[in-house]
Amino acid sequence: MRYFVVGAGITGLTIAERIANDMKEDVLVIEKRDNIGGNAYSYKDNVTGIECHKYGAHIFHTKKKYIWDYITRFSEFTNYRHRVLTCYKDKIYPMPINLMTINMLFGEDKNPYEVSLLMNSTVKKYKNENPKNLEEYALSLVGERIYEAFIKNYTIKQWGKDPKELPASILKRLPFRKDYYSDYFDDAYQGMPLYGYDEIFLKMTLDTRIHLLLNCDYKSFKDSIPSDAIVIYTGLPDELLDYKYGALEWRSLDFVFERKDIQDFQGNSVINYADLNKKYTRIHEFKHFYREREMEFNQDKTVICYEYPKKWKVGDEAFYPIADEKNLKLYELYKKELTEKGIILCGRLGSYQYLNMDQAIDNALGVYIDLCNNS
Ligand code: UDP
Repeated sequence: MRYFVVGAGITGLTIAERIANDMKEDVLVIEKRDNIGGNAYSYKDNVTGIECHKYGAHIFHTKKKYIWDYITRFSEFTNYRHRVLTCYKDKIYPMPINLMTINMLFGEDKNPYEVSLLMNSTVKKYKNENPKNLEEYALSLVGERIYEAFIKNYTIKQWGKDPKELPASILKRLPFRKDYYSDYFDDAYQGMPLYGYDEIFLKMTLDTRIHLLLNCDYKSFKDSIPSDAIVIYTGLPDELLDYKYGALEWRSLDFVFERKDIQDFQGNSVINYADLNKKYTRIHEFKHFYREREMEFNQDKTVICYEYPKKWKVGDEAFYPIADEKNLKLYELYKKELTEKGIILCGRLGSYQYLNMDQAIDNALGVYIDLCNNS
């Protein structure tokens, strides 16, 4: 065996699938957890029948047709469109910020043109071509009142940092609209896998050339790998080198699941909580991701999940990289050493980047093409 993939998340599975089905080579996938699919893993709750996302909600969306063509080889998708609400001072508003959010906050009924004028005068004093941090960027985009209501405290909770210490790029993930369009994503291709993510991961690994080794820590296994093997590593780079230069910083999350004896808890798949007095940033209610399966689910119950951000420490699940200058320099040290050892780093953990599922697939397909070109 020549190819070894460490980590059975979406990156590792994409690369393994290509090696097996396209290159027609054997590949061993080594996974620490007892399931494949990484953080996109979902399961059917045995009491309610509801499909739950163990590591937070995952909604597939992409602007790129070739990524959509790739993922839809393994599953049909529903036409689910993600719509998020946010709770500020006990009142519910649509999120991302759009005309409805602004009108509700200001208690007005302005049209897009009038809101543009209002915004222009509000943000005038914050105009900034080159915002140095998230706060400067947010103020120059939406002004003080909207920033204070929907962004500032949510961001403090999510990152455990003052928004002045965070890069503007974090907020660029979130659209800001002056019309009533309230879908969370703008992407042309969106949906949920019709039979759950499990179906996708099972189909990706169907080929007999893919060998899965679950519950296996790569560090305890690596000495049995031949010296000329090609290792694609999607885990934590610093962990692999025993944190010799120090640990890369991450933000972690706690997910607290609850079954409720009610049919519908919140009427939407995700509601964000913008105020500091609620320690969680959002509540997921999984049945709303799968309206087409409504009759399959227990009608008297629901499953919700509170998402609590927390400081990461060695051993916790790593979710969001704190990709500041210090950490990026540290990452480069690990990358250099591991690359010299011939290890290919990729995926969210391996490349120390926050990646949506489609970006993870895109990067994985790129790694696969490089493998083909170099072999
Ligand atoms: N954000 C916010 N208020 C919200 C939702 C998001 O201020 O109600 C900001 C926050 O800084 C967050 C960023 O937008 O880190 C990106 O949010 P997104 O929903 O993309 O985060 P993800 O779902 O990927 O965790």
